Amino acid sequence: MDKYDLVVIGAGPGGYVAAIRGAQLGFKTALIEKRGTLGGTCLNVGCIPSKALLDSSEHYLKANKEFETHGIKVGGLDIDFPRMIARKQEVVDQTVAGVDYLMEKNGITVLHGMGAFVDAHTIEVTPTEGAATQIGADRILIATGSEPASLPFIALDGDRIITSTEALELPQLPKTMAIIGGGVIGLELGSVYARLGTEVHVIEYQDAIIPTMDRTMGKELQRSMKKIGVKFHLSHGVKEVTNAGDQAVVKADDKKGKEVTWEVDYCLVAVGRKPYTLGLGLDKVGLALDERGRVEVDAHLRTAQPHVYAIGDVVKGAMLAHKAEEEGIYAVEHMAGQKPHIDHNLIPGVVYTWPEVAAVGRTEEQLKAEGVAYKTGSFPFKASGRARASMDTDGVVKVLAHADTDEILGVHICGPRAADMIAEAVVAMEFRASAEDVARMSHAHPTFTEAIKEAALAATGDRALHI
Ligand code: FAD
Ligand code: NAD
Repeated sequence: MDKYDLVVIGAGPGGYVAAIRGAQLGFKTALIEKRGTLGGTCLNVGCIPSKALLDSSEHYLKANKEFETHGIKVGGLDIDFPRMIARKQEVVDQTVAGVDYLMEKNGITVLHGMGAFVDAHTIEVTPTEGAATQIGADRILIATGSEPASLPFIALDGDRIITSTEALELPQLPKTMAIIGGGVIGLELGSVYARLGTEVHVIEYQDAIIPTMDRTMGKELQRSMKKIGVKFHLSHGVKEVTNAGDQAVVKADDKKGKEVTWEVDYCLVAVGRKPYTLGLGLDKVGLALDERGRVEVDAHLRTAQPHVYAIGDVVKGAMLAHKAEEEGIYAVEHMAGQKPHIDHNLIPGVVYTWPEVAAVGRTEEQLKAEGVAYKTGSFPFKASGRARASMDTDGVVKVLAHADTDEILGVHICGPRAADMIAEAVVAMEFRASAEDVARMSHAHPTFTEAIKEAALAATGDRALHI
């Protein structure tokens, strides 16, 4: 039986990055993956393909709606949807091939197959074809990720009633789509299809979209997305979804209890994801799941078995690729006896709509609930010269700072390139900057980032310059 210093189960962004770090630290490392390609949800059916389609659909929207204002005339504009899907797949293929290269470069043994505990130090790998093998492991990292969740009364069929996975490779451009859930997936994929001309209905149970983010962000984004034609149905409780052959029929009750029905080409169910531990044999090693099906870990991401750690979507916390990566590195460094560090409060969250939404730290609602004394400063992109030049004037930056110390507690951006801009806020908050610190830093002109400086100026006491 081959023996390894470290065996990682699951090759998503958490697992494969952890394997690289393990190899860097001198561990003889094996990576087990049941999927045919490496990269997990993120590279195969998540972050990367969704962003590829978001970029393609944004090009189309700009050509269709904005070029003329810029003085550019386009004739015969059309959509080749199969080509768009094929390009997305090319991006995915190149990206997953890059992970193969990284594994080879770092001397990591990749085993394709389903990994399952035999005992606390033995993992069985069962490939799709051929015989199962067993390997020995001194240390084990569970990085098995998540899968789409549904509602108890909805039968996902991959035909008319679909998840994000199918929504990334539809055979043709739908005329109509209902999306259950106004969260990240619903709004990103809703944007893709609305930009391409699909009539998109977002049906959300709560009274706001992206309800877990700062409420100002949801309001701003909803206003912008309405402009591309997305129809929002908030405070609606979906109660039935059926496949009617060439359509899906969705029924919900609005907040007054009145029944509303949609007959659409597809119903995309985007109500969250759930941890994936099927077939892992956790019972063989006495590892428990919490009430939400997540592998239980301590503050060092260690399970009840001290040599077994778990990270990413399969444990508590935000289901984000960069969170999984940071945890993968943390776990392996901790196994190696180092003293790594992660501040989960400073993991940024991004919604890749346009405008984008990006946030780090506490929301205003959280600060209120925690009874923290805070002050707020905002700056709208309509007052930014750079935003006017690029026709991206929707959105706002909001900085929340402690009322007494001025320390930045949260930064929330709805605006152009918010996903990239949030890095400034993460750096500032990692170094425990005050709003005054950021307000006094020089920001290149003209850039979108000036809006962060202006919001920080506003937070220090009504000192914004351009509003
Ligand atoms: P995963 O990426 O889920 O990888 C787990 C891997 O383990 C899988 O490949 C699985 O096949 C394998 N596996 C499971 N069980 C076994 C087993 N027993 N044996 C062998 N292999 C096994 N996050 C972002 O940060 N930014 C984004 O823009 C973003 N966009 C997204 C868009 C969509 C449509 C979706 C669905 C998700 C998106 N996410 C995004 C979330 C992100 O994909 C996940 O948070 C991330 O992939 C989690 O990484 P992970 O390594 O924990 O697990
Ligand atoms: P989500 O948790 O972001 O949103 C789910 C939404 O569905 C919520 O707004 C919730 O209120 C709503 N909902 C729940 N039950 C409902 C019901 N019965 N009827 C109507 N609405 C209902 O989940 P998601 O959008 O499915 O995404 C899953 C995970 O994938 C998220 O945790 C997210 O972090 C991750 N992801 C991240 C990105 C990104 O980072 N850009 C992109 C896509 C997905």
